[in-house]
Amino acid sequence: MNFSDSELIATILTKQNFQFVDSADQAEVILINTCSIRDNAEQRIYKRVSELQHLRKKNKQLKIGIVGCMSERIDDEKMIEEGKINFLVGPDSYKNISNVIFQSENERVTDVLLSHTETYEDIVPEKLIEQGISAFVAIMRGCENFCAYCVVPYTRGKERSRPPESIILEIQSHIDKGVAEITLLGQNVNSYQFSNNLKIITFPLLLDELAGFFPHVRFRFATSHPKDLSDELLHIMAKHQNICKSIHLPMQSGSSAVLHRMNRKYSREWYLQRIDSIYEILPGCTISTDIITGFCGETHEDHLETISAMKYANFFHAFMFKYSERKGTAAAKTMDDDVSEEVKSERLTEIIAIQTQLSKKHNERDIGQVFEVLVEGVSKRNDLELMGRTTGNKVVIFEGDLKMYPPGSYAKVKIDECSSATLKGCVV
Ligand code: SAH
Ligand code: SF4
Repeated sequence: MNFSDSELIATILTKQNFQFVDSADQAEVILINTCSIRDNAEQRIYKRVSELQHLRKKNKQLKIGIVGCMSERIDDEKMIEEGKINFLVGPDSYKNISNVIFQSENERVTDVLLSHTETYEDIVPEKLIEQGISAFVAIMRGCENFCAYCVVPYTRGKERSRPPESIILEIQSHIDKGVAEITLLGQNVNSYQFSNNLKIITFPLLLDELAGFFPHVRFRFATSHPKDLSDELLHIMAKHQNICKSIHLPMQSGSSAVLHRMNRKYSREWYLQRIDSIYEILPGCTISTDIITGFCGETHEDHLETISAMKYANFFHAFMFKYSERKGTAAAKTMDDDVSEEVKSERLTEIIAIQTQLSKKHNERDIGQVFEVLVEGVSKRNDLELMGRTTGNKVVIFEGDLKMYPPGSYAKVKIDECSSATLKGCVV
């Protein structure tokens, strides 16, 4: 989402005659796009801001601004007061960014108002880096689920969806530049809902329309909230060959008691029943997840329930985090962050080890099978090998050259070996 926002900001500024430079020391303005999800993400930003200060000695006119989620949270404006940064721009104020830059000539400026309606539907973001075969298209913004641990509803504001016509325009512009795979993005992408005078367009309807309208494009989407993962959506995925059979479905915890405290709005049983439906309607679909260890009040038994749910769901991949208390959230206000750092780390290490085993076994089951691989380019490690992805979002490395398999083409690859992260095979 942040990467896609950086492209949006870049597009807005380019239209207003700003130019990009290759390195920070050539810049007159430096924008730092930020994430507030966990404390370590914010700490990295503070460090980066400090590191950039030496450039002010060379260029007294240099302006440094923080954009994105953290702008909504630096309520004491300490960094501004200390003169380390010149401005703050929140996620719904990017259209005003050039005004803020100019205004910051004379004063420190903040524009962090959150909007109920801004979807940037009138802007088709340009690619920041060389256009690969894959592009991200944000279709909704914001979140109002208020999971007890999460800052997103406070930093990104209300949930709002972009009109389908503007999504189609952006996808077409990517296709015109050679993109073969589109990932639809949103904080909760499958909660997408857009109403016009005629009807309500939900995520399954949108996906059905896009997959039919662009039959040669491969579609992915992230992140899905379990509460909105309907059978209707799974049937639409089954209907279209060009919708990838892979779902990122954050579980957070395998314990109903913890899920309840997290305000996730589903139980362990409900989540695992969604997993059953995915495997029933989409055999072979891969599922990945997010897990938090050591949330307030998490007991050893809760932790064991997370492990058993991971095994039951047979995730092929997981992003795993230690709970990080965030100021202003319901958990910070009303619950004790009572699992020690040591126990959080132990539990995290344990689930990472379990997931590594699950991923390895998942990949071992692919040995001997043939997959259609969308080629992305030359493998990073070996010029004689190519790299691509299966519909299940697994990375495949195989011998070949770009003349035969240019980026965006498909290769049929039989898998011979694997690690926990990658499949390796030969073209058949
Ligand atoms: N909207 C998505 C997730 C977006 S945030 C969903 O609800 O499923 C990405 C991930 O960051 C979350 O799934 C969660 O696992 C993690 N996360 C969010 N807040 C966190 C916190 N305070 N501490 C640790 N991890 C957190
Ligand atoms: Fe955060 Fe929950 Fe919203 Fe996801 S659904 S962004 S975890 S509040």
